[in-house]
Amino acid sequence: MSETDSAEIISVGTELLLGEILNTNAQFLAQELARLGIPHYYQTVVGDNILRFQKALAIACERSRLLIFTGGLGPTPDDLTTEAIADFFQVPLIERAEILDDIAQKYAQRGRVMSPSNRKQALLPQGADILPNPTGSAPGMLWQPRPGLTLMTFPGVPSEMKIMWHQTAVPFLRRQGWGQATIHSRTLRFWGIAESSLAEKAAAQLQLTNPTVAPYAGNGEVRLRISAKAATEAEAMALIQPVEQQLRDLAGLDYYGANEDSLASVLGDLLKQRGQTLAVAESCTGGGLGELITTVPGSSAYFKGGIIAYDNQVKIDLLGVRDADLASQGAVSDAVAQQMAAGVRQRLGTTWGLSITGIAGPDGGTATKPVGLVYIGLAGPSDQVESQRYLFGSRGRELIRWLSSCSALDWLRRKLLLLNR
Ligand code: ATP
Ligand code: MG
Repeated sequence: MSETDSAEIISVGTELLLGEILNTNAQFLAQELARLGIPHYYQTVVGDNILRFQKALAIACERSRLLIFTGGLGPTPDDLTTEAIADFFQVPLIERAEILDDIAQKYAQRGRVMSPSNRKQALLPQGADILPNPTGSAPGMLWQPRPGLTLMTFPGVPSEMKIMWHQTAVPFLRRQGWGQATIHSRTLRFWGIAESSLAEKAAAQLQLTNPTVAPYAGNGEVRLRISAKAATEAEAMALIQPVEQQLRDLAGLDYYGANEDSLASVLGDLLKQRGQTLAVAESCTGGGLGELITTVPGSSAYFKGGIIAYDNQVKIDLLGVRDADLASQGAVSDAVAQQMAAGVRQRLGTTWGLSITGIAGPDGGTATKPVGLVYIGLAGPSDQVESQRYLFGSRGRELIRWLSSCSALDWLRRKLLLLNR
């Protein structure tokens, strides 16, 4: 299939360019095109300006075969989609009596009188079909201005656009032979590996064409999205499955879950399977770790609670951290992380205790203890206690706190998987 056999979404509206509204219409249509297996390589946003609109249209019809417009079908002078399209293809606009009747009837039902400006909404290029709008006033058009090029216009109002898409556009596209295939995706999630390292390991998979494998990274996590195109969802899944297995095998413990999984939900499942429990002691994350754990429904089955020990005195009084160690090694140290983890495990009576102490910044760093230095403590069965030192760098307070909480979850996740081998 060549690139010109694809669809393009053209969102019209100056409010989109100004950032006043989010382009949710393009998101909806993009998901629908993927669901129908219609390839789609370009999206355009253009303001309410006839010259720029026509420039965008000129480019789009060179590279795409199905153009989907949203916005600019209303009665006001800034609504120019229909007019600009007719002018571009040099086809006259014709007033459609059936549209006018329909609009007049809708107004009458609401006890209102149609205004003269609404007449504009009854105009369509000669030869275009009506794309009915059951819930709003302006219909769209369905038009092939020349062989091999289909145009569809939808109003900007998302609810109207969606109804028209499902009721008329999808059946039309299917009749035209579009959407015989479906694109299905699965997202694999990794922690503790850099995007570049994972991409090197997965070099062979990243070359595949069906399914395709695409990497994404952000906030410490790397994701690989596997997308397959096939006639049915089951066939797409069958294409995805072996590639997923290869990727999981080559990533080992760095793979933690898929789709909606989180480090906290995956760790929660592991604890539940083992009938084990967890408590946390947090300093620099201030409850962020507990928040991640309790976001998971059903976490009460394994999570007992936590102590936010921000001040040194709280570390001493509530967690049993030794005064002398705080004085000699500082609150951000292996010794304190270990005592916090052991303390919370013992006081809350859990299988595992996790602790976090670090310097989230932006102030408070020194040459030997820079911003981003974090110690995580882990206390477990038979009173064993360990700690790990992390250097997250000066990447901003929020990210350091997030990476700290996630790293704590990840450490215990790995531990449980390794113990089970
Ligand atoms: P109307 O008859 O209401 O004027 P229209 O077809 O002319 O409809 P617009 O005027 O462009 O459409 O947009 C109407 C409303 O729809 C906007 O105020 C906005 O709230 C919403 N809208 C428009 N475009 C989008 C979009 N791409 N994504 C999400 N919402 C949109
Ligand atoms: Mg409008």
